[in-house]
Amino acid sequence: MTTTISKYSMGVGDRFGLEGVAQLRAFQAAKDHGVAITPVWNKSNREHSLIGTRPEDVRAEADAAVKACRWSGPYFVDADHIGLHTVDKFLGASDFFTIDVADSIGKSASDASIATYVAEMRRFSGALRIPGVAEPVTVSPASLQEIASKYLFAVEEAGRVYRHIAQQKGEGHFVTEVSFDEANSPQTPAELFFILAAAARERIPVATVAPKFTGEFLKGIDYVGEIKRFSREFAEDLAVLEFARATFGLPASLKLSIHSGSDKFSLYPIMHAAIKKADAGLHLKTAGTTWLEEVIGLAAAGGEGLAFVKNLYRDAYGRYDEMAKPYLTVIAIDRQALPTPEQVDLWSAQEYVETLEHNQACKRFNIHFRQMVHISFRVAAEKQAQYLALLKSNRNRIESHVSNNILKRHIEPLFVGRFGNGLKE
Ligand SMILES: [Zn+2]
Repeated sequence: MTTTISKYSMGVGDRFGLEGVAQLRAFQAAKDHGVAITPVWNKSNREHSLIGTRPEDVRAEADAAVKACRWSGPYFVDADHIGLHTVDKFLGASDFFTIDVADSIGKSASDASIATYVAEMRRFSGALRIPGVAEPVTVSPASLQEIASKYLFAVEEAGRVYRHIAQQKGEGHFVTEVSFDEANSPQTPAELFFILAAAARERIPVATVAPKFTGEFLKGIDYVGEIKRFSREFAEDLAVLEFARATFGLPASLKLSIHSGSDKFSLYPIMHAAIKKADAGLHLKTAGTTWLEEVIGLAAAGGEGLAFVKNLYRDAYGRYDEMAKPYLTVIAIDRQALPTPEQVDLWSAQEYVETLEHNQACKRFNIHFRQMVHISFRVAAEKQAQYLALLKSNRNRIESHVSNNILKRHIEPLFVGRFGNGLKE
């Protein structure tokens, strides 16, 4: 039997590996209300190396959570953002692979391979009409040549990674995602169409594809950009996927994957309406939003928990460049807008929580502070014994924050179409 992913799925990351059960409870609550969403535990190579965890840890966490919750539905462990040089250590533990080829965009494929591709795609020359895309796409030998020089090598690279995984795990035994989200510029509908054509030629059974969208998808905060433009682009990408699936025989389950997907509150209603209208599936990836709920839980606990997260901020603030370095393209922190550690030291539990918690209606909420704490998890990783002990001694409080965040602020607005912010429950 071929492994496929269901229509709706959501990636949850867990920096320190203790929140699997709390996360899964959110999926269980959705299921009890008739909405089936497949949980996918994702952790990138970058995150593993920053914290010092291994892919087997994520597998163990997922399996244990599934057992503890008696979850009977499907679930996956995602090797997030891997390439040929990083995939091997994920082969045993993962059954979902996010092949990241953004770095290969713009590298040129061989002349012969570009020529063959362009010749094959010439059948789309002229005004290509994609149902659901407003303007016909003008396809010419020159435009095909341009798309090929930009993307063909990257898709060929994805093919190499896919075949390497398939050789080890066997075809049909894992879910394949191809991601371009860390590219420098968004892909147009035409580019996405011809990328999928190239993927089909490489015989990659693409289940999910992560394009780069217009606007900024920053870590842990809402979307920054033109919502109308995003809305059109998202609907057109759904249309392109449908058309590409029918044209190239890609898997029936092919769907979009949204990276840095947490806390995009202004987009969820738009995405919800679009996937309903198109009867399309969707994968949403989140990760650090769960870590932030741990910090919120500790702050809310007061005492030692609050003292720890105040110190965490002080340490991270003093090591700003080091903390920010791996995340420069996905954060936008105005350092002038950050409170000083001395100010934070004076805060009550409530003040800390209100400044950090993603409640846009609250005057104290500070997106710069939130992003700063988002990238500060390495400080907690350095004091792991103390941090884990605090997480354990505040278990109930933290778990309710984690579950509530996934369920009320992500699953409900995106997949169920219910728009509360979950902050007053
Ligand atoms: Zn990504």
